[in-house]
Amino acid sequence: MKIKIDCNDIAFSKLVRMNHTVCQRYGKPLKLQCCHIFSRKYYTTRFDEDNAVVLCWNCHNWFDTHKMSACLFDASKRVFTQDEEGYAFLVDWLGYTWDQLEELYHKSRQIYKGYKAKKKDIGREIKEKTLLKEE
Ligand SMILES: [Zn+2]
Repeated sequence: MKIKIDCNDIAFSKLVRMNHTVCQRYGKPLKLQCCHIFSRKYYTTRFDEDNAVVLCWNCHNWFDTHKMSACLFDASKRVFTQDEEGYAFLVDWLGYTWDQLEELYHKSRQIYKGYKAKKKDIGREIKEKTLLKEE
């Protein structure tokens, strides 16, 4: 299902993409995208930089179709190499720990209310972070 994006998503994507000039998987500089580790549909982590990596269009597609949640909760399921499984890629290549990912997973599932009321503040916060990085 396509999730509607707003001005905060666009600003957040720009902020995240400032962190990397190439794809974090294979180092290609083409068509870079802000890729959410846990879906953008979860508002508690939607604008959390810990929940975003920079991938090219191809790797983003690969990532979104190669994540097995069982890996997060059961160490015996972590039998994949970084090229076969999205979460293993985050751990093996990008330095995430399984504990961090599990924590982020639970954070993403927390109930979130009142985005509309917070929308402007979130936008301001993203803008401030962007300006700091531009300095
Ligand atoms: Zn890539």
